[in-house]
Amino acid sequence: MTDPLHIIEVAIPLFLDKTFHYLVPERLQEVALTGRRALVPFGNRKLTGYILGGATGTDIPNLKEIIEVLDREPLWTSGELEFFRWTASYYQHPLGEVLRTALPAGINIQTRKGVSGEPETLTGGKTARQERFYLPGPVAEPPRQPGAKALEILAVIREAGDISAAELRKRFGACSPQLKRLCELGLSTSEEREVYRDPFKDRTVTRDVPRQLHTHQKGALDAIAAVLDLRQFKPFLLYGVTGSGKTEVYLQAISHSLELGKNALVLVPEIALTPQLTGRFQARFGGGIAILHSGLSDGERYDEWRRIRRGLARIVIGARSAIFAPLDKIGIIIVDEEHEASFKQSDGLRYNARDLALVRGRMERACVVLGSATPSVTSIHAAGLGRLTLLELPERVENRPMPIVERVGMKGSKETISAALSSCLTETYEQGQQAIVFLNRRGFATFLVCAECGKALTCPNCSVTLTYHRQRGESLCHYCDYAVPAPGTCPSCGGTSLGELGAGTEKLEQNLKELLPAARILRMDSDTTSGKGSHERLLARMNDGSADILVGTQMIAKGHDFPEVTLVGVVNAEASLGMPDFRAAERTFQLLSQVIGRAGRGETPGRVVVQALDTEHYAIRSAAEHDAAGFYRQELEFRQEAGYPPFSFLAAFAISGLSEQTVSEQADKTARLLTQIKSELKVRVEILGPAPSPIYRLRNRFRRQILLKGINRSDLHRLLTSWRQQAEIVSTVRISVDIDPVDLM
Ligand code: ADP
Ligand code: ZN
Repeated sequence: MTDPLHIIEVAIPLFLDKTFHYLVPERLQEVALTGRRALVPFGNRKLTGYILGGATGTDIPNLKEIIEVLDREPLWTSGELEFFRWTASYYQHPLGEVLRTALPAGINIQTRKGVSGEPETLTGGKTARQERFYLPGPVAEPPRQPGAKALEILAVIREAGDISAAELRKRFGACSPQLKRLCELGLSTSEEREVYRDPFKDRTVTRDVPRQLHTHQKGALDAIAAVLDLRQFKPFLLYGVTGSGKTEVYLQAISHSLELGKNALVLVPEIALTPQLTGRFQARFGGGIAILHSGLSDGERYDEWRRIRRGLARIVIGARSAIFAPLDKIGIIIVDEEHEASFKQSDGLRYNARDLALVRGRMERACVVLGSATPSVTSIHAAGLGRLTLLELPERVENRPMPIVERVGMKGSKETISAALSSCLTETYEQGQQAIVFLNRRGFATFLVCAECGKALTCPNCSVTLTYHRQRGESLCHYCDYAVPAPGTCPSCGGTSLGELGAGTEKLEQNLKELLPAARILRMDSDTTSGKGSHERLLARMNDGSADILVGTQMIAKGHDFPEVTLVGVVNAEASLGMPDFRAAERTFQLLSQVIGRAGRGETPGRVVVQALDTEHYAIRSAAEHDAAGFYRQELEFRQEAGYPPFSFLAAFAISGLSEQTVSEQADKTARLLTQIKSELKVRVEILGPAPSPIYRLRNRFRRQILLKGINRSDLHRLLTSWRQQAEIVSTVRISVDIDPVDLM
C-alpha cells in the first residue's frame, strides 16, 4: 500500500502557471492518492484538481483542506504524471489544463457535477448498467480445459471484442456456468458497467494471419524486435512507399511486444481511421483493442478510456489525443503517416502527438516507430543525423511498378480538364476500370467575381474569398461558415453579373458528368461526408465496383487502398503551393506523392496525369518522377538557407481581438517586451514581426503574429518562460503561443 499523504500538490485546470498545496484531512487520508481527482476550495469556489503527489517540506501556513476525493481508482500513474509535467513545461501550458485536456470529455462532465457539490466517483455512473464480457487481452489459442459450448462462447466474445451477457444468452440460451468457467480460467473478463457503446458493432471481422515477410520487411521487423527485447528507448523512421508493407511490419512488431508482456500504442491521422486500418488490427488481434477517434460520443470515449485504464485493452489505436491514453507498460509506440499535420492540435494545448510520441517513448523506455511513405523533412533530417534509425521498404509488395506519370502544363488554358486527362479518363472508363480525380478545393467555383466592379466576393468577418457552392445555392466562408445566397448581387456595387473563377470539386464533378454522361461518379469532400458513416459508404461503393470515378479533395489521397483504380488525375497540382507557409512545398510534395500512389495498386499498372501551371516546380517534378531523395535534398537546402526548421525552432504568437487598434498596440508591446528580455538573457532568438497574419481577419477578429526563431530549444524556452512571467495583456486581446507551429495562417 502507498503511504498516506498529509500535504498534497494539486494541479487545477485554470490558466495559472503554478500548482497548489492542500492538507488532507484524517478521514480522506486513505483515499487521497496520486493520480486521483480531489474537490478543493479555491478562493470562494470549489474546483476539481488533480493530485500530483505528496509534498514535503512545505512551510506555507494556513493550508486549506481538500473537501472530497472524486475517484476510487487513480486516473493516472505517477509515470504518466511525469509525462504531463514535461508536456506542460514544453508547450508552456498550465499543468491542470494539460490534465483536463488529456481526460475524456465524459469524465469532465462528471467533474462539473462535482463542482456543484455532488461528487461522483468513477464507478458511480447513472446510465443503464449491463454485465459485459470481453477478453482481457489478445489471446493466442484457447486452452483445452473448457467444454465445447464454452469454447464456442469464447469465439463469439473474441469476434465481438465486447459483448453483453444478454446478447450471449440470446445466442446460447442459459450459459452462466460456461461464462463463469471462462472467467475463472482468465480467458474472459466480465464487468458491470454502463452500456458499452461499441462504435464498430455493425462490422463483421474475419480472422487474418501474419504474412511471410519479404526481405526488407524482415530487416525492419528484426531491428524493431531487437530493441523491444532490450526494453530500451529507440526511435525508428520506417520509410516505405505506399503499399510497401509498413502496416504488416507494425502488426508483427506489435505481436512481438505483446508476447513480451508489453502493450502497444498506435497513432494514426484522423483521416486514416477508416474501417480498413482498424479492421486489419481487429482481424489480426481479435479483442483487446481500444479505438479512440473523434467520431465517438463522449460516453463511448469514456468507456474506451476506462477499458484501457483497467488493462482490458492492450492495443490502443487513435488519433492524436491517444498519445494521452492511460496505457500501462508500453512496449511500442507507432505513429503512422508521421508527416501528417493533423497530429498537431491547433488550439488549447497545441501539442504535436508525433513529437510527444518520442517523449513518452523515452520515458517509458519503449520502441517508437514513425512510419510514412513521405516522411516529414524534419524526420529525414533526423535520420541523416542518426537521431532516428532509418528502416527502408523501397519496393512495393510483389514488386508492383510505380505508376507512370505525365505532367500537363495548364498555362493559358481555361479548361478544368485537359485533353490529355479527358482521353485517359474516357479510355479507362471504356475498359471498365476505375479512376480518381483529385482537386484540393471543395465547392463549385473557387469564388465569384463581379463583372462590373471586378471585386471578388469576400467574407465580411474573415479576410478570405467566399467559395461558391452551387448545390447549396450559397457563397460560403470556409473559416467561419458565413453564407450568402448565390450567385446573388455584388455587395460592393450592387452589380448582378457575377462570374465564376477557379474550380472546386463540385464543378469538377459536373465537368466529368459532361465528359462521361453514363459514368457513375462519386464525390468525396467535407460537403459529402458530414453524415455519420457517409465516408465509409462512399469508399465501399468504390471498393465493390459500383462506381467508376471518384472525385475528391485530400480526403481521397490518403490511407485507402483501391485495388481497381488504374488512373489518377490531379487538377491544379499547385493548389497548396500558394500558401504563405514555409512548408508549402513539403505539403504539396507529400500530397501529390500520396495521390500518385493511389494508382495501380492491384494487378494492372497505374497511370497518372498531373495538371499544373508550373510543371517544373521541384515539389511537383520530384513527386511525378518518384524522386523523393531529390526533393528532400532541395528542400533541406532551402530550409537551411532560410533558417527554418529543422535548422531552427519556432514559436508563434497570435494576437487577436475585435479592435484593430488594441490588437496592434498589444502586438507592439509584446514584441518590445520580447526584445527587451532577449537582450537581458542574451538568448539567440530572432524576433520577427509583429506582422498581420496571412488571414488578417478571422471570425471578426483582427490578427497579428510574432514569430520567434531560436537556434536551440533552450534559448527559446527561456525567453518564453520569462515573457510569461512579465506579460501584461489587456483583457480584450487574446494571445496564444504556439510552440513548433504547423499552421502559420
Ligand atoms: P503500407 O502500409 O506500406 O501501405 P501494407 O502493409 O498495407 O502497406 O501492404 C500493402 C498490401 O500488401 C496489403 O494488402 C498487405 O496485406 C499486403 N502485404 C503486406 N506485406 C505482405 C507480404 N509480406 N506478403 C504478401 N502480402 C503482403
Ligand atoms: Zn468568414
